[in-house]
This record gives sequence, C-alpha cells and structure tokens, in this order.
Amino acid sequence: MPAPWNDHPLASEIEIAASAVRKAGALCRAVQGGIDRGALEKKDRSPVTVADFGSQAVVCRLLGEKFPDDPVIGEEDSQALRDPDNAVLMERVVGHVRDVIPDADADRICAWIDRGGAKTYSPRFWTLDPIDGTKGFLRGQQYAVALALILDGRVEVALLGCPNLGPKLDGDRADGTLAVAVRGHGAWQMPLLGEGDAEPLRVSPQADNTQIRFCESVEAAHSSHGDAARIADRLAIAAEPARLDSQAKYAVVARGEAEAYLRLPRDGKYREKIWDHAGGVLVVTEAGGRVTDIRGNDLDFSLGFRLENNTGVIVTNGKVHEPVLKAISDLEIGIFPAASN
Ligand code: AMP
Ligand code: MG
Repeated sequence: MPAPWNDHPLASEIEIAASAVRKAGALCRAVQGGIDRGALEKKDRSPVTVADFGSQAVVCRLLGEKFPDDPVIGEEDSQALRDPDNAVLMERVVGHVRDVIPDADADRICAWIDRGGAKTYSPRFWTLDPIDGTKGFLRGQQYAVALALILDGRVEVALLGCPNLGPKLDGDRADGTLAVAVRGHGAWQMPLLGEGDAEPLRVSPQADNTQIRFCESVEAAHSSHGDAARIADRLAIAAEPARLDSQAKYAVVARGEAEAYLRLPRDGKYREKIWDHAGGVLVVTEAGGRVTDIRGNDLDFSLGFRLENNTGVIVTNGKVHEPVLKAISDLEIGIFPAASN
C-alpha cells in the first residue's frame, strides 16, 4: 500500500524524516539491548548518553544530506563527547552509528550532532529530541525519538518513533510504533522497525468526564501527580492514571487508549522545551484531539527552543478538554506565589 502522504508537497521531507527516525530507533534499541542490570544498579547513565548522541547524529546526518539549509533545534551538542576524558564513550557512539552509517567517524559524528545545535526560531526548521524519556530508556520502558518540521511557527510534519510501544499499551512491544502526522491530512501509526501498513489514528469518542482514562509522567518532578489527583477527584474520574515516560503519552491519546495526558507545572519557572511537544501535538490534533496549556492557550512554537508563553500542557480527545480546563481553573492549579529574592 502506498504511504498516505505520497502526493503531499512535503512527501520527500516526510519520507526522509521517517527513515531517519526508524534508523535512530534501531540504534536506540541496539544500545538498550546491551544494558545489563548491573549498569542500572550502579546508576550508570552511559547507555542513554551513547544512544542520545548516536540518535541525534543519525537523524541530523540524514536530514542534512537532503535539506542542508534547514536548521535543527535538537536537545544535544557534542561538547561533552569531544572531551578527551570521554574517549571510551566516543568509541561506543562511533560503533553504534557505524552500524547505521558506515562512513561515520568521530569528527563527522560530532559535526552531525552539532547540526542540531540551532537555538533560535526561523521560518523553516526541524526540532529533534533524540531520546525523549531518558529515564524510561534506562528502566527499559517507554521512550521516543521525536522529530517535527515547523513552518512559519506551525508544526506541519511530526514523527514519534516509540521502540518500546507495541500495538497495545499493555501488550508486547513487538516492532515498536511509528506515529506520523501531516497537518490537514491525518495521523497514522505503523510498526517502527518492521513492515506494516499505516493505520489511521483516532482519539477516543468518550465524552463522559467520569470515564476519563488519563496518563502522566512517571517522574513526579516533571508533572505534579498531586494536582492530577485533585483534578481526577473533582471530575469523579475512577480510573488510576497510566504513568509512562516520553511523548509515547501523546501516541496513547491519539490512538484512543486514554482520553487525556496531563502535564501540570511544579513551579512557575520551568518552561517546556519545544522538542518535548512539537511532534506529539500534531499527532494528537490530526487524530481529532486538542492540545493547549493549562490556561487553554495554544502552544507557541515561534519563540525559540522553549515554550516561553505556555505553562504546563493539557492533551485530550477534545471532548473532555473544557471540563479538564475548568477543573484546573476552579482548583487554582498552576498559580504560584511570586518568587522571593
Ligand atoms: P516525561 O518523560 O514526560 O517525564 O518528560 C521527559 C522530559 O521532561 C525531558 O525531555 C525533559 O526535557 C523534561 N523535563 C525536565 N525537567 C522538567 C520539569 N521540571 N518539568 C517538566 N518537564 C521537565
Ligand atoms: Mg525530552
């Protein structure tokens, strides 16, 4: 079956981006396969560091070959990797990237990573999180390679490669999941690492607040679990939240396995990063859902690498959006005392 975006003016961007995310996803899986329990017990973060650098190198190299003038706002830069003290780390990165791109060497890899070092807005740019959900990666749970193309401040193309997300949230990870969305054309999922047709993504039609299934970060430092529980109480939501790392949460809402994803600020200072949301936002909106901040404002991707004008993120199937926003406002969530000096 031909890809659903075959005739789209951005078809070549979508194809290259999908191929880059698939290759980066394969690299991440290969690195993850090599993690032993001992490393986890020693709190050794080096596997995720290897995969993070490797993933950004692969995606930036493949995008840069075809679209050399496109800036990439990515999460990583090569500074730490170039440190001679990190020679062993560098060697591991080179080994993994070579499995995907045979002519890779240390200098080229650093240059590819640094192609992802843009920080400021431009009318056409990509944003990349080479591994979103690093904690999930280390725990062997959910993580994502997230890539989006932003034109004139609007996300036009989005890809979420989720190597540990199978066709069912609670099922086997199988070949992972690739979610692709194209503005005005739809959102689909397909296997990330194997063959399979693109299936359209559709949010849940559930409109009864009490029946909401919601998801949130595993990490309480990234989103207030306490405030989410207060919202659940207020709306008489019975189900326990599903906790998972990364933008896999957006994919779960987009395919109707949850009605909402709540990301509630812990303080008035943190600003969300664009690479943590750009991909997910389009996947959910093209699947029929809605994404705003906790005040009901659209996320503004035209301000550089942070969402400077937004606080928190609320993702829903659309039907339950207003009741969730109203509960947030009634409970005065996200209102913090002015910082004292
Ligand atoms: P998640 O897997 O949903 O918990 O989100 C992971 C992302 O949270 C990382 O990519 C970080 O950029 C981001 N993050 C780090 N610190 C915070 C924070 N204080 N509040 C919200 N997000 C954060
Ligand atoms: Mg991230």
